[in-house]
Amino acid sequence: MARAPLTLKLHNTLTRQKDVFRPVDPKHVRMYVCGPTVYDFAHIGNARPVIVFDVLYRLLKRLYPKVTYVRNITDVDDKIIAAAKESGEPIGSITKRTEQAFHEDAKALGALDPDVEPRATEHIPEMIRMIEALIEKGHAYAYMAEGHAGDGHVLFSVPSMPTYGRLSRHSRDELIAGARVEVAPYKKDPADFVLWKPSTPDLPGWDSPWGRGRPGWHIECSAMSEKYLGSTFDIHGGGLDLIFPHHENEIAQSTCARPGETFARVWVHNGYLMVNGEKMSKSLGNFFTVRDLLQKAPGEVIRFAMLATHYRQPLNWTDDALKQARSILDRWYRAIALCGPVAPIAPALDVEAIQAFLAALTDDLNTSQAIAEINKHADMIFHAADLTGITKKMVNFDTLKGRLLFMGNMLGVLRQDADAWFKGVSAGSGTAGEAEIEALIQKRNDARKAKDFKEADRLRAELVAKGVTLEDGPKGTTWRRG
Ligand SMILES: [Zn+2]
Repeated sequence: MARAPLTLKLHNTLTRQKDVFRPVDPKHVRMYVCGPTVYDFAHIGNARPVIVFDVLYRLLKRLYPKVTYVRNITDVDDKIIAAAKESGEPIGSITKRTEQAFHEDAKALGALDPDVEPRATEHIPEMIRMIEALIEKGHAYAYMAEGHAGDGHVLFSVPSMPTYGRLSRHSRDELIAGARVEVAPYKKDPADFVLWKPSTPDLPGWDSPWGRGRPGWHIECSAMSEKYLGSTFDIHGGGLDLIFPHHENEIAQSTCARPGETFARVWVHNGYLMVNGEKMSKSLGNFFTVRDLLQKAPGEVIRFAMLATHYRQPLNWTDDALKQARSILDRWYRAIALCGPVAPIAPALDVEAIQAFLAALTDDLNTSQAIAEINKHADMIFHAADLTGITKKMVNFDTLKGRLLFMGNMLGVLRQDADAWFKGVSAGSGTAGEAEIEALIQKRNDARKAKDFKEADRLRAELVAKGVTLEDGPKGTTWRRG
């Protein structure tokens, strides 16, 4: 059977509908996603785009021969400056430490590294050149305060772009209200936004035609996406909260600096994350960092809990959702264990199970349907394992295992072997360490040998209290968590 062609459909915020994805160059798909501003640990709301766009990246890599995924690091920003002022920690130390923590979190969540991860501070000349192009073309202007020669602001002139607001579809009044515009003497129009601002000597700054200063946030993404992906590329992603003003302003800068170019053709936005039905906030006490959560559950469980909800829907984070994710993954790992220690065979992509799974994912990343397809496949394995005699002998468990692993890996889960999973080697998944458990089991075995069954029972109870299940078999005692 020939492999059925798979058509990727993605919801495009520009058109407000699911469109068939047609890359500029089918041999090389290019995607940009706004990365973290590195001043604090990532919270679970920050984790959502990391996971969603990782799934999209994995899918694109499956469908196209080459994919370039760029995710930036914003390491110059007023929030970073404010954090340094508050804590006294030098800016360079905050950004370095936070970037490293972000990488550790992303890894724990099973996210592949992007192909390029440019830092804003290493791309200032590119930003300056783009700002110069905007001034040249009449889309931006510099304001030099009187008597402060060299302390220049550069602003993007929103009225110079008749199509401004196309992505967010805001009216001009909404644009002005939404931008929380401060009345500033350097603005010609209240909707104009900053491309460059002056820095006092104690603040990070770079020499520019407008004096020593630093870039605004929006220009970073325009300059860095162009450098690595070109002036027109395929997909731009980020959270819903970035549509306005950040992404609207990126479009304004990039298309006005490069007339005739489209910039990103497809805009993909993930929905908000709530905690127990409420907006996450430090004052409500429902604010969790990824690190906090990793103490409670393995990264794979956190990741899977995020994927159970479609990426465009609001995601309600609850302990129950986490428990449910854990139990589904447990079940899948049990199915893997039932297949035995056989080497999994890479699946033929045209088999029905894989086709149904890929059809779900290519339908605007319908992860809940994709999970349902994996569940069906796990059911099949449980059913096959219950067979006996000749019918069981006819089952090809390595093929079944290969398919299950293929589907799980496309979602970025089932990354460890079943034994390691149930022993909970992943970070933070249990209270007792593996060595401690092994030692207790050894003590219990010794007690049994010495026929001290009371002590053996006491040790078993102690293990159960630590969430460990023992199975005594002919080859000795095996154990797992849960
Ligand atoms: Zn951005």
